[in-house]
Amino acid sequence: MPPRLAAVDVHVHLSAFWADRPSSFYTPDLDFTVPGLLRELDAQGIGEAVLLQLDTAPSVAATLEEGGRLSSESRGRLLRTSTVNPVDGERVVAEAIRAWEQVDDLVAIKLYPGYFPFYPHDPRLEPVYEFAARRGLVVMVHQGDTLTPNGLVKFARPIELDEVAVRHRDVRFVLCHMGNPWIEEAAELVYKNENVYADTSGLVWSPRLPFYEAMVTRAQHRLANAIATMGTADRVLYGSDWPLESIALAVRMVEGLDLPPAAKAQILGGNARKLFRLPPPAG
Ligand SMILES: [Zn+2]
Repeated sequence: MPPRLAAVDVHVHLSAFWADRPSSFYTPDLDFTVPGLLRELDAQGIGEAVLLQLDTAPSVAATLEEGGRLSSESRGRLLRTSTVNPVDGERVVAEAIRAWEQVDDLVAIKLYPGYFPFYPHDPRLEPVYEFAARRGLVVMVHQGDTLTPNGLVKFARPIELDEVAVRHRDVRFVLCHMGNPWIEEAAELVYKNENVYADTSGLVWSPRLPFYEAMVTRAQHRLANAIATMGTADRVLYGSDWPLESIALAVRMVEGLDLPPAAKAQILGGNARKLFRLPPPAG
């Protein structure tokens, strides 16, 4: 069996709270449902995907309800996460943690600096990091460009994650989108901090842009450079950012890297299985 049959996509989205965004999907006729997503995963031999809750979710309770429902519908192949916005205040953060305490299948908490005006080192997030350490959960942090022009990308630069990575060595962080466009800065964070990982999702923008093919080629070069900066692929995680990017394209970008097959298998799934403590692939 080719090694990627064991693959894990660490970054997908599927939510009713994203109904206003089909214009950003990689194709206008995308099937934005559990079967539609599973079909794309199956076609690339991907076992599980981390279903990341969105900045547009109306409440923490809504993320838990929807994540649980979609995870069941996928028979556990879509892994459940939640999100909280610290700008909503300390009371909302405390309520989120109380709700998360009641759920035993969460694999990660996603944070959206840039979409909301806060830094990862915002003191209001301390209880979230303490909770993640206690439960052994991964904290995934949006980094770099935002889908909406109203985002403030100064809050989403990789350098801003360094302080919490140092302060919370017992928390494993995923720096999403490799900090795109600050990919070299992200590579430094991963190189320096053993508890920081980076995902390969969202490295290209809309397929409707006139120079899209050049963008894909350049993104792949930058990914290769980042791995060379790290000196290892042990903490690089394949992710697509579906439905913004097709699963097939995201896998192709990793498979096209000039790396030994074992390193590509690690990026496509081995590293994620260890990080999220997933069982070995079926079969
Ligand atoms: Zn995303």
